[in-house]
Amino acid sequence: MEVLQSPEELERYLAGSTRSRVLVPTMGALHEGHCSLLDLARRSRPDSDLIATIFVNPTQFGPNEDFDAYPRPMEADLEKCRAHGVDAVFTPVAAEMYHDDASIKIHEASLSHRLCGASRPGHFDGVCTVVAKLFNLTRTQAAVFGEKDFQQLAVIRRMVRDLNFPIDIIPGPTVRESDGLAMSSRNTYLTEQQRSEAPVLYKALREAAAAIAEGKLSSPDEAKKQITEAISSCPEAKIDYVDIVDASSLISLGEFTDENVRLLTATYFGKTRLIDNVGLPSPTSGG
Ligand code: AMP
Repeated sequence: MEVLQSPEELERYLAGSTRSRVLVPTMGALHEGHCSLLDLARRSRPDSDLIATIFVNPTQFGPNEDFDAYPRPMEADLEKCRAHGVDAVFTPVAAEMYHDDASIKIHEASLSHRLCGASRPGHFDGVCTVVAKLFNLTRTQAAVFGEKDFQQLAVIRRMVRDLNFPIDIIPGPTVRESDGLAMSSRNTYLTEQQRSEAPVLYKALREAAAAIAEGKLSSPDEAKKQITEAISSCPEAKIDYVDIVDASSLISLGEFTDENVRLLTATYFGKTRLIDNVGLPSPTSGG
């Protein structure tokens, strides 16, 4: 496995390979969720070079967010990449990625304002800009993104559509701890009490999704109320948002119209902001 630390090293690597590429962008601190995306990339594109990127992108963090504290266990990350068949890891430093006088960025003007974007201004512009740079640098044909960051996935899909990137976006399902908590590099920030409460997010979303599918909740408002009450019963939980949206446009639903429904929340446990989301259970899955 090659470890490439600059765009020049990446370019040399690309010049030496005739294969197409599949990309898995990450900020490192890899867990089983990330590893599942590496496996999915390999399964989806068995004949491509699998390139993982590890880059804690400063432009997607707000001024009071955890950029400095974000975990960076590089050796352990590289070991996981090796174990999951990665061909090359691109892990540049910020100075290699952004010119001091960089003056162009990508602005997504619709999907980004809602949900996480409402409390993280500029976040999705930072994400779009760095992902576009990674697409250009790697000239990849396909890229894998997790449904865990559902809004990010929708924004990236929109960017690929609107800017005509010839890249297949492959979604990966959320990998969870045994108690249902979605795996996240930020789970390590939780106190014991917060960690014991955090599975409420998935439980509340999943129960509401099942109730909607069974016709037991007549409106999105009713479903949001049920989710909000369940999460609020945890003393450490402070809800940022609970929403029920159309999965493509991310617009809040006023009524249940079809099955393209996504239930999402962002909730603080202390200073740690966790996100989760679910779709409706398919009729055959039994919920
Ligand atoms: P991050 O390193 O947090 O930027 O995440 C890198 C990629 O991993 C993104 O596409 C995330 O959506 C995805 N991801 C993060 N957590 C999970 C998880 N628990 N299951 C599946 N994918 C995940």
